[in-house]
Formats: sequence, C-alpha cells, structure tokens
Amino acid sequence: MRPIAGVDITLVSPVRFAPYSGMLPGLIAGHYKHHECHIDLERLARFAGARFLRTLSHDVDPARREVVLAEGPTIRYDILSIDVGSTSAMAGIPGAAENAIAVRPVETLLQAWNALIERAGANGLGMLAVVGGGAAGVELLLAMQYRLAQLFERSTVRFVLVTDTDRLLIGHDPKVHSVFKRILSERQIELHFVSRIARVEPNVVVMANGQRIAADAIVWATGAGASPRLSETGLALDTAGFIAVNEHLQSISSPAVFAAGDCATIGGYAYPKSGVYAVRQGPPLAANLRRSLAGVPLIAYRPQHRALALISTGDKYAVASCGPLVFESAWVWRWKDYIDRRFMAKYNVPG
Ligand SMILES: Cc1cc2nc3c(=O)[nH]c(=O)nc-3n(C[C@H](O)[C@H](O)[C@H](O)COP(=O)(O)OP(=O)(O)OC[C@H]3O[C@@H](n4cnc5c(N)ncnc54)[C@H](O)[C@@H]3O)c2cc1C
Repeated sequence: MRPIAGVDITLVSPVRFAPYSGMLPGLIAGHYKHHECHIDLERLARFAGARFLRTLSHDVDPARREVVLAEGPTIRYDILSIDVGSTSAMAGIPGAAENAIAVRPVETLLQAWNALIERAGANGLGMLAVVGGGAAGVELLLAMQYRLAQLFERSTVRFVLVTDTDRLLIGHDPKVHSVFKRILSERQIELHFVSRIARVEPNVVVMANGQRIAADAIVWATGAGASPRLSETGLALDTAGFIAVNEHLQSISSPAVFAAGDCATIGGYAYPKSGVYAVRQGPPLAANLRRSLAGVPLIAYRPQHRALALISTGDKYAVASCGPLVFESAWVWRWKDYIDRRFMAKYNVPG
C-alpha cells in the first residue's frame, strides 16, 4: 500500500484464495461462506501494485538469489521473503500420507470434507477419526459433528479422537483440557489419550499397542511440520527443519532472505506455531524488508509471552484461554466472530 519507487514486488502463491485458518472451523461448521474466510491474493496484489504469480515456488538458490517456480521463469531477487507456512506433521508414520486427510493444505482438506458430506448424504457414515488433540483437531472434530447433525437429521456418525498426549490442548492451562474433555464427553466422542499411532492402513488407525480403530475417514491434525522443500534450499534450518532466523526475521545464513510465520523459527524463543504469532510478525517483517532495501538498521520482533486463544466448539460457542484465565460462553464465540471478521475486512480490498 506504500510502494517504494524503483522496487518491483512479486507475490508467488499456488492458490489465488488464501484461507484464514481462524475461520476454518466455522466454515466447516457451515457458519461462513468460502469467500468470507479467504483472501483474494490476486486482487490484493493488484491493489498493492504487485505482480501475482499463481504457482508453487519449487526451490530457492540463495547464492544466485533465484527462486525456481514450478511453472514459469526463474525469478531473480534482491530481497526474498519466505512465508510458506507448515505442512501436516505426518512424516515417520507409515501410511499416514496415503490414508489420512491432512489439515494442510487447507484446499485439500476442504475438498475432502465436501466429498465426505456427499458420502454422508448418499450412504451415511459410520465413524470419523481425528488424530491430534490440539486446538485444530478438537475444533475441526466439533465443527464436523455439528455440520453433519445440521445437514442430516438422522445422522448417526460417531467420532473418535486419538492423541498421544495425556491431555487435550497441551500448551494451554489444564482447565482448558477439563472444559474440552467435558464438552467432548457430552457429545459422545470417544477419546483415546496417550495413544501413539504406529501406522495408518486404508480406513484403519493402528496404535502402537496393537489396537485398531476402523473409520470411514481419518483426519490428521497433529501439528505443524516443516515442508521437506526447505531442506533443499541450502538455507540454515532448525532441528525440526524450519528456516532459522534471527529476531529481525532474517535468515541466519543468507541476509537477503527473510522468513516469518510457521515456516520460520527465531533462535532463543519458544512459542507455538500459531497464527497469532504469524500475524504479529507481519508489521516488523514489512518494516525490515523496507529497511533492508534502504540499507538502514533492522528492527527486532519479540514474541509476546502469552497469546489469547478463542477455541470454538462447533455450535457458535467458544472457550477463551489466556494463561490461567479460561472462560466459555456463546458470547466468546460472538467475540471471536467479531475479531475474525474485522481481520478479514482489512484484506477485502476493492476489485
Ligand atoms: C484447522 C486449523 C485451525 C487453526 N486455527 C487457528 C486459530 O484459531 N488461531 C491461530 O492463531 N492459529 C490457528 N491455526 C494455526 C495457523 O493456521 C497457522 O499458524 C498460520 O496459518 C501460519 O501462518 P503462515 O502465514 O505462516 O502460513 P499459512 O497461513 O499456512 O500460509 C502459507 C501460504 O504459503 C503458501 N505456500 C505453501 N508452499 C508454497 C510454495 N512452495 N510456494 C508458494 N507458496 C506456498 C500456501 O498456499 C499458503 O497460502 C490453525 C491451524 C489449522 C490447521
């Protein structure tokens, strides 16, 4: 929105419509339409005077300062900002990638969800399994259950949630676990704690203790993994494979490369891979891209100590969690809805 004379900006994305994950459970539950929770990147780029290329960046060569695209010519850059997010952490679990529905990329999740709705309408569904007891797994499960009950009055689909932890929503106050355990029990959801998954077969989750859970579909929501592509870039990575950056959000190995959000890890700080942190990195990232071009000192980003999480329960009800403060009500959902819509309105630029 504040172009710099002589600077050309290119935005590369494999999708034109970028999903806002905060509203994704609400989309699955049927509370939002697709356009309400997606940002039109092509339109946004046009508005900002940037070039938009709808393709995947395939590789980065920091030595030659080039980005290789899946389709189209290689792009040379003076400054590169990598913000490619994370993938569903499936590595190391045989059969997971082939037999489970990953929550990322979101487009694939939404396609799979629409196909499941069709199947539910045609033949009915017996059991849906969700793997992962974090916010994404719990919210998606409750949203799916709500939507199926709304669409099909006689829906008898059962849900099971499997997690390798001994409680739900690790990283939040234990009261959040108690609240969600109660809500999931009230909704007759079968819960398996401390259950490590050994492998996934077609329509079967096989636990390390040999127990098998048959399901019509298996949704994989075990957290953020690093894209394997990052390891091919030659950029310095952390032990989990994310781009290692300093507090200026600048690669520790290539000063012309910046990275933010889920795909980057800032040395010396421990914070979750979540949208709250990714969004807060936007302003210092933008400032540092400008500063780097102008050759002036960069500013530091310091993650906040704690973040407010508003976790929905499918039925226009939500739980607020901020450190030791935990409360739940339909009012919390309306608060979340207000914040999310206000966030999206910022990107809803004139066409
Ligand atoms: C179901 C679900 C619900 C969530 N709810 C919340 C929530 O309520 N609050 C919260 O704080 N966090 C939430 N999160 C986490 C949140 O989604 C992430 O932390 C956040 O999206 C990270 O932002 P990002 O910009 O780093 O990555 P993303 O939002 O994932 O964006 C990355 C973008 O890069 C693009 N891309 C990927 N690879 C390439 C490539 N090779 N070339 C070009 N482009 C590429 C992708 O298409 C995508 O548009 C949720 C996650 C899930 C899965």
